[in-house]
Amino acid sequence: GTMDPTDLNALIREYSNLAFHGMRANPNPINVDIQLSLDENLPKIKLNSEDFSRVILNLVKNAFDAMREKLSAKNPEYKAKVEIRTRDLGDKVLIEVEDNGPGVPDQIRDKLLMPFFTTKKGTEGTGLGLSITHDIIKSHEGTLEIKSEEGKFTCFSILLPKSTE
Ligand code: ADP
Ligand code: MG
Repeated sequence: GTMDPTDLNALIREYSNLAFHGMRANPNPINVDIQLSLDENLPKIKLNSEDFSRVILNLVKNAFDAMREKLSAKNPEYKAKVEIRTRDLGDKVLIEVEDNGPGVPDQIRDKLLMPFFTTKKGTEGTGLGLSITHDIIKSHEGTLEIKSEEGKFTCFSILLPKSTE
């Protein structure tokens, strides 16, 4: 693919919806509330939309997986929620995917972006999702930050420059 001016909000709507319906159609669906908090004044961003759609899919799928674990760990009150945000920060765009799943334990936080690192059993996880996600963000000259509090939330925070000349 090529870098083309892209409606990032539209891409997020499309691929979060795809991830949701894929998850619902699979053997272990969960009820999850997906909230989009998109900056409607966001200009078009130069992106490789084919690559960037995988970033959204990977992050949203990981959120579903993480929340599924919390749901199965006897939490009758728990309501799974994913929030996806965009914000125009002037020279940069902020994209965040936050879930209220189990969080990331401190001992593994530094390993998440490593190729083949997974906590998923058997053939469930390849451990490549976040490594590929990070590579795609770097190829857009962006950054990826992980914020988390155990038992409460995980937030993947992406900063992309608006123009990559
Ligand atoms: P995979 O999904 O195949 O395990 P990833 O590279 O996508 O590989 O993720 C690596 C690991 O990071 C996961 O196995 C999981 O332990 C952790 N992780 C990723 N996203 C989340 C999240 N939203 N909440 C908690 N842990 C996460
Ligand atoms: Mg993954």
